Amino acid sequence: MESTEREHTSGAQSSAAVMAAGWTRVGEREWVRVEQPCSVNLGLIIGEERALVIDTGAGPRSAGRHLEAVRLLTDLPLVAVNTHHHHDHALGNHALAGAGVTEFWAHQGTIDALDQNGEAQRSLLSEEDGEPEMRAASGPGTRVLPPTHAVTSSPVDLDLGGHQVTLMHLGRAHTAGDVVVASGPILFAGDIVEQGGHPQFEDAFPDEWLRVLGKIIAIDELYQRIVPGHGTTVDADEVRAHYHRLARAIQVADTALNEHESDATKSIPVLPFGPVQSRHLLNRLRDTRAGAL
Ligand SMILES: [Zn+2]
Repeated sequence: MESTEREHTSGAQSSAAVMAAGWTRVGEREWVRVEQPCSVNLGLIIGEERALVIDTGAGPRSAGRHLEAVRLLTDLPLVAVNTHHHHDHALGNHALAGAGVTEFWAHQGTIDALDQNGEAQRSLLSEEDGEPEMRAASGPGTRVLPPTHAVTSSPVDLDLGGHQVTLMHLGRAHTAGDVVVASGPILFAGDIVEQGGHPQFEDAFPDEWLRVLGKIIAIDELYQRIVPGHGTTVDADEVRAHYHRLARAIQVADTALNEHESDATKSIPVLPFGPVQSRHLLNRLRDTRAGAL
């Protein structure tokens, strides 16, 4: 990997404005800021010729705020990637397209989910989410826009000019179409890793998620910092803790499904997640193992 001493931020902008916009620098070229709704982590990786936006927010308002923040750091042309199809990560695509972004990456599973059932993501927006136009499907930037470029099982190397990042699908996990972004020693993990909150299982493949976390910790010497989809940046030890917690949860859920098939929800109080997540975990474990998904 090429290293450079060049300052990647636009000289015209003060670091105070960058901080006020909520940016945290997590690497030489890597930045993250929290956007609403859902306190989602939106990332940015700045090359010499273009910059990669990681996740786009939930509609034109969050995408607009993010774009404004991005422009404090770089004037370069932008490429975008959706780590998965959930509304807080992908419904800002159309607004970014309106601002001139033409290249959007995601796993094929994410493209299919947005293409075939994107309105389900829109319907998850509540009044409190602060995206009234997106919620009403009215106004500029309010279409559900599936990404234009697909990541498959082979990693995709994106050249940002003087810096290469890799988009990888490590398997089904939080959704059928999760993509992680590796940039030097930084890994943007999307919702495969959540810090400060419970993992969300409503579209998950729990057994495969465990394998994906296993892959991340198997290559942990490559990554100094892992940026989760929500919460603060973690290290490999914390991902290891996530792995063990999920392994334990699957074991408990397994026993419950085997012993009380009619009422596995009895295990919810002993699962290491909240009641909603635990219920989803049980349902998804049962359905994925039955081959229904
Ligand atoms: Zn998600």
